[in-house]
Amino acid sequence: MKNFSFVIVAGGSGSRMGGQRKQFLPLDGRALWRWSAERAASLAGAGVSEIVLVLPRGEAVSQPWDENPPIPLRIAEGGASRADSVLNGLLSASYDYVMVHDAARPFAGEALLRRLMEATSKTAGAIPVLPVADALKRVEGERVSAVDREGLFITQTPQSFYRPALIDALREHGRGAKDEAEAWLAAGLELHCVEGERLNFKVTWPDDLRMARALAEREREEVTQRTGLGYDVHRLVPDRPLILGGVRIKDSPLGLLGHSDADLLAHAIADALLGAAGLPDIGNLFPASDPAYRGADSMELLREVVRRVRGEGWRVSWVDAVVQAQVPRLNAHLPEMKKRLSAILDPGRPNCVNLKAKSAEGTGDEGRGGAMTCWVAATLYRVPSEEGESS
Ligand code: MG
Repeated sequence: MKNFSFVIVAGGSGSRMGGQRKQFLPLDGRALWRWSAERAASLAGAGVSEIVLVLPRGEAVSQPWDENPPIPLRIAEGGASRADSVLNGLLSASYDYVMVHDAARPFAGEALLRRLMEATSKTAGAIPVLPVADALKRVEGERVSAVDREGLFITQTPQSFYRPALIDALREHGRGAKDEAEAWLAAGLELHCVEGERLNFKVTWPDDLRMARALAEREREEVTQRTGLGYDVHRLVPDRPLILGGVRIKDSPLGLLGHSDADLLAHAIADALLGAAGLPDIGNLFPASDPAYRGADSMELLREVVRRVRGEGWRVSWVDAVVQAQVPRLNAHLPEMKKRLSAILDPGRPNCVNLKAKSAEGTGDEGRGGAMTCWVAATLYRVPSEEGESS
């Protein structure tokens, strides 16, 4: 498999967008360039090995990648011309092959990226093209003449090349080139065409941005439901209170060991909710190394998790949990746990959680009364944005 650097060129001044730098305009809460970066990152392990973002000189990234980037992201500084910016990006890249993409095309599809990688070799570059659909005219002052559109195609990005050959081509022929393919062709190199995508349009004029926002909105609303999985395990030891689902179980001689109150049911539910919302788990949100959480009330941590999940535009649809414990017997306490958990998960819908207790049939640490485990599946549903709360 060839390894590609995905170079996103975000060096433009946005003169046709009323002076705004369009590469940083928000599209459904993410800067325009992030859309392409995330699409490229979805092919990490399938050919795309890093992202190189070319920014205007002195420009910081307004929205840095999350703490755990799915793929390395390098920043390169833009130059005076497009060719200079692309060259800087190519020189910062680490792999033999590159895809060069306009930050202003947020909707390049995964299938298109795969077609390009497939068509690219050491001797041949590859570009996406589409036949011209509209009738063409040449307008020069008052003179209008017809132009035959037969054989004419529009060119999109990403454009895909063998990096050393593209560097040479841009150094020799990059001046004034409208895209990398022009310099590549001027250098006499072979170029393959793959089918482009109509939705891979370039956000150039304010109306394009309106169209992009409508598309982004539709894409987001298509995801209406998601499921997450949560799991937790704690040791069962003497001289600790046993707290599950916010309920203190007074008749138990054993309790769960942990940094917080060790309420493993609350922990596993929190992780299932966070997983469904695509957020980091509770170990990341409330690190055990932070003294602030020593002895913490886990139901309060769960309340904070629900607040964050709602802030992302999700509501709890259903939570199903199973606690595995040999001792003590938990069945009598389940209704009270359900009541307390429901009040946090969705105060408006008291019946959104189901709890089960299983013995461990004498197997493993749980079966010997040395530990408890808990598994949770949580389903969230998306609420329309006007009902969403900000976090
Ligand atoms: Mg825990």
